[in-house]
Amino acid sequence: MITRQETFKKAFELKNKALKEKKDKYNMLLSAAYSANPRLREIENEQASVGASLVLSALSGAEAVNELKKRSSALAAEKKLLLEKSGVRDIVFDCPLCSDTGYTGGKICGCVKKLAAGVMVEELSKEMPLASSRFDNFNLNYYSDRDGKNGNPRRRMTAVLKVCTEYVINFDPRKSRSLLFMGSAGLGKTHLTLAVVSGLAEKGFVPVYGSAENLFMRLEKEKFSSENSGAYETMTDCDLLVIDDLGAEMTTQFSKSALYNLINTRILSGRPTIVNTNLSMKEIETRYTARISSRLIGNFDAYKFIGEDIRQQKAIERVKAKE
Ligand SMILES: [Zn+2]
Repeated sequence: MITRQETFKKAFELKNKALKEKKDKYNMLLSAAYSANPRLREIENEQASVGASLVLSALSGAEAVNELKKRSSALAAEKKLLLEKSGVRDIVFDCPLCSDTGYTGGKICGCVKKLAAGVMVEELSKEMPLASSRFDNFNLNYYSDRDGKNGNPRRRMTAVLKVCTEYVINFDPRKSRSLLFMGSAGLGKTHLTLAVVSGLAEKGFVPVYGSAENLFMRLEKEKFSSENSGAYETMTDCDLLVIDDLGAEMTTQFSKSALYNLINTRILSGRPTIVNTNLSMKEIETRYTARISSRLIGNFDAYKFIGEDIRQQKAIERVKAKE
């Protein structure tokens, strides 16, 4: 997982690098133009003396001033033409809003936020098969269309898929609901959450995804050493926090309170969270605390994934294919 701070740092690095390349190229062309056209230097000298005369002639009447101004614009036009002939063009910025400085009106420009989101997507894809977990390759055929004791898996999962795709379409980091995905392993919880994460990142939001084990480990390092500074802030401030596989980590006093603080802080600030777990609500209460299970019950929309372990089904398919 990469922190929000890191994505912005990288985004600024990318921006500065691109701007430096543009400036370097411009300066190179400019000095080549000056070497090839001695007239450019002459113009510059004359511009300087016209400028000085303008200051002095301010008192000697409007006519003199006008003459000097005319001369000044003629020189500027001649210079522009000579530079154009030498292939020197004004720098065209990628972002006209901030002239590629990354700041506008004292705030970070939207172009940097967009770049940061791109960095996030790239980093996430390194850590996990983001590209392979999309909505369009979520295969409903792995879910039986027959009614079982928990209901009809295909129908249930079609509904959950719809919830997830609409979640991305209508996402609002201050209004979207928090989701709790429950059910045994291998039923597509991670697949669907990753599809949500990459969908949001593509839209320019900043989601943070991690397994419970990984997230708590980062928080612990932040607390007890100087590593991962900003981890807690990133997890509480990001547009969407995904805590995957809650219950698979080793439960400690630290992880219990970290989980509560994360969930509670995000609820209080109106920010959505998605929690995936193989545990039942009763098991969550036993393993963590009643405070946590009551926050989940009260503030999350819960969806129970049903069906048969897809990883097992795929493994069987692979064996069959070899036979
Ligand atoms: Zn900009």
